[in-house]
Amino acid sequence: MCFPKINYIKISYMKMRIVIKVGSLAVTDEKGGVSYSKISALIKEFVALRNRGFFPILVSSGAINSGKKLLKQPEEKKMMISFQQASAAVGQPLLMKTYVDVLQEVGISCGQILVTHEDFKQRKRFLNIRNTINCLIENDILPIVNENDTVSFEEISVGDNDQLAVMITEVTDAEKLILLTEADGLFNKNPKDPDAKRFDEIDYKDDFSGIKFAAKTSVGRGGMDTKLKAVRKLTPNGIDVLIGSFLTPSPLVRLIEGKGGTLFKGNPEKLTSRKKTWLSTIVKNDAWCVVDQGCYEAIMKATTSLLPVGIRKVHGVFKRGDVIQVKYKNKTIAVGISEFDHKELQIIKGKKSSDISSLLEHGASKVAIHKDNLLVKTDF
Ligand code: GLU
Repeated sequence: MCFPKINYIKISYMKMRIVIKVGSLAVTDEKGGVSYSKISALIKEFVALRNRGFFPILVSSGAINSGKKLLKQPEEKKMMISFQQASAAVGQPLLMKTYVDVLQEVGISCGQILVTHEDFKQRKRFLNIRNTINCLIENDILPIVNENDTVSFEEISVGDNDQLAVMITEVTDAEKLILLTEADGLFNKNPKDPDAKRFDEIDYKDDFSGIKFAAKTSVGRGGMDTKLKAVRKLTPNGIDVLIGSFLTPSPLVRLIEGKGGTLFKGNPEKLTSRKKTWLSTIVKNDAWCVVDQGCYEAIMKATTSLLPVGIRKVHGVFKRGDVIQVKYKNKTIAVGISEFDHKELQIIKGKKSSDISSLLEHGASKVAIHKDNLLVKTDF
């Protein structure tokens, strides 16, 4: 196998992109106003995802709900649209101020992107959005996207932020979309019903049209219906969509680890070809680890994460987030994003995952390469 030589690419640019859409109630209070504590909890999760080799891109609702209590409620129904637009005008900067303040505490910068549906329809504008987001990512800056509610009226509106999140997932070539909401995924009946059962995983080919959904929340425009529309658009193209509750502890990490919510699995063939193009163009030629027979067999048999215990040797200089090769008997059997730099991997090679935290100061991950970021040779 021959990989093209690559120049140094900033670490953030090489990470797998993951779009996270948060509904209004995930970042604001029920009665209106930004919630500092909810945003703080969310950003902690972003840091954890970055440590696991992902680059999160945020689609945040909450502008209207952040601003509305500063305005007089309109008496006439026909004034409702301008009330919401004015609320967004007041609320969006308040929302962003809180993001900036919270992100500053963890040393991350962010950039605001406000768009309408028109912007995606016109090629020039579409490319401008993509270039801007790419440039932010190259500079390790978190993009925060919302609909430009103050100029959005029916004809040009994206509709709801679930649809906006779909467009942002496509425009950024992201691999996954997470929709954080109140319900912890898709249930066979109203999740408040004690007999309700949650679906853990749904294949892109499965038909879930017969399932009845709980009513949407009073705040925000989307609901389970709009989320399932997002699923239907993205999963055939190989993109995984995860729906989970922001009300649980570590809401994003547990979804990524498959410990809750519903995973709508993207078409694996499409995903493989996307990953193949991406990983194989940025793999480092001079960085690899050599695995033992047990690890080789485990990787070839099933899609499993590469654990440090199966690593015998580490070669070359690489950073956390770099794409390295996995070798067995002098042959490259896989490529993937390393969760550790070469020095850390030298220390933990051959060791059990449970020992990582005592061996490394920064033992955030339990795996050397996460299965989602590993492309085995049969896939090439
Ligand atoms: N753009 C709206 C806001 O930020 C939310 C739209 C939605 O809930 O889908 O308030």
